[in-house]
Amino acid sequence: MTESANPKSPRPVYFLLVDDLEENLLSLEALLRQPGLILLKARSGPEALEYLLKYDVALALLDIQMPVMDGFELAELMRGSEKTRHVPIIFLTAGSADWQRRFRGYEAGAVDFLHKPIEPHMLRSKAKVFFDLFRQQQTLADQRDALALKSFENANLLEESRQAAEALKDADRRKDEFLATLAHELRNPLAPIRNGLNVLRMSQNPAIHEEVRGMMDRQVNHLVRLIDDLMDVSRVSQGKIDLRMERISIQSVIQAAVESSRSLIDANSHTLEVSVPEDDIWLRADLTRMAQTVANLLNNAAKYTPNGGHISLRAMQDSGEVVIAVTDNGLGIRRDMLNSIFDLFTQVDRSLDRSQGGLGIGLALVQRLVTLHGGHISADSAGLGQGSTFTIRLPAGDIAAVDEDKGPAADEENENTSGLNVLVVDDNLESAKTTGWMMELIGHNAFLSHDGLDALEQAKKLKPDVILLDIGLPGMNGYEVCQTLRADPAFKDTLLIAQTGWGQEKDRQLAKEAGFDHHLTKPLNMEDLSRLFTQFTNAQAGVKSLPDV
Ligand code: ADP
Repeated sequence: MTESANPKSPRPVYFLLVDDLEENLLSLEALLRQPGLILLKARSGPEALEYLLKYDVALALLDIQMPVMDGFELAELMRGSEKTRHVPIIFLTAGSADWQRRFRGYEAGAVDFLHKPIEPHMLRSKAKVFFDLFRQQQTLADQRDALALKSFENANLLEESRQAAEALKDADRRKDEFLATLAHELRNPLAPIRNGLNVLRMSQNPAIHEEVRGMMDRQVNHLVRLIDDLMDVSRVSQGKIDLRMERISIQSVIQAAVESSRSLIDANSHTLEVSVPEDDIWLRADLTRMAQTVANLLNNAAKYTPNGGHISLRAMQDSGEVVIAVTDNGLGIRRDMLNSIFDLFTQVDRSLDRSQGGLGIGLALVQRLVTLHGGHISADSAGLGQGSTFTIRLPAGDIAAVDEDKGPAADEENENTSGLNVLVVDDNLESAKTTGWMMELIGHNAFLSHDGLDALEQAKKLKPDVILLDIGLPGMNGYEVCQTLRADPAFKDTLLIAQTGWGQEKDRQLAKEAGFDHHLTKPLNMEDLSRLFTQFTNAQAGVKSLPDV
């Protein structure tokens, strides 16, 4: 006999019948039998106690006169045990009412007496009361358990939402901190740019003009790099960066990185020692991203080392790995921060204003890019003031692999392109005008337009070689202008370049779908633009077909 735990079918109710005479037990059983009720038949007190240990009994019907242990003794034992103390007892007595016996019976805990021969109707109606009572108790107990479970679940939910609220609060605090840092970092380069403009206006000294221009150039590059890093870190986080993996030499990575960081290193009067083996070390990597990664470490070394410091950049092969290490003798890093500096927006001792112009995203980006390459980066420092070393380990490429390098790029065959007709479309008049000036200064003919419909008209009239098209335009946006132009065979070969502030992967995709050849983010980089013009001119001359966006 096992109890059912299925809440849909009610659990059985147990009655205990105790009588030394088998025929009495059988007749009781016949009288009481009903669905959902299990009758436990004991022929003696000890057998009854065994059943009581095993089952929760709703009612015990006890014969009084039994050998070994009579009904009263059994009842007293039941009263003495925690498990059976509250089991209702009905004594079955033979003969007429015996007051003395009856008194003992109540003392022993009886709830009632029935006289033999038993009146069936009476027995059934009393039994029904206890059957129903037990069922109600069962239902109550089930409800109590369900309530306890619910309140346990609620407590868990409450704890979870408390933790979620805590995490949100933390994220909100970091976001506020980040926005404050961002505003600070964007203002920093703007101040010298504005000062520079004033100096240019007020000073006639060509040497000062030259210096101010150099300074403004550096500050604008800094601004662009901040925004590029921001965009990159969000793209890497969302898995939206596609690496252009190719077989490259570590020497080419080092060269590109040093070129990119040289001005900052020189500006702080540091010495840079580069140590790279003479024989090429190969790896499969994205050259631009790897160079960006190493340049980031060099920039940090330059930023976090007092002027006149020493920076070393070493690359070597170590068993199956390529190792790149950047060491400086600068501020150093507290040991407890060595791992967390790779977390997004982490800056050591921001409160001490140790931050040297940055958003705390450089190392997060570096780590993500290295991981994307299947590598690992670690930081080491003997402590504050003891300098730092950042070490990147990457899987080495196959040295015996066929050289995939293609020799001088076809782009280089015709580097000095000029004389292209360029239609510049931008609703920001100053942006359009300055881009037009730049086009003229590098030998092209620039035409300006400031809205979509006008751009279409001018394009039809001028048949330009190149259209630099902003996306957010009044009237008709850049995508629509591009689609309309592409639908016209006259513009089949026109170089269409999207220039926009939106640099997400989805924006590039939209530009491609609209029919653009390329997608550039503002501010336009003159080198990128010149390269695209060169490719275009070469393709037109039949040297090389145009690459995709
Ligand atoms: P940022 O330089 O923009 O603050 P990073 O993610 O590049 O952000 O660096 C995070 C922090 O790690 C920096 O704020 C700085 O405290 C510390 N750090 C990075 N590189 C060095 C270094 N070479 N020497 C000392 N501290 C460094």
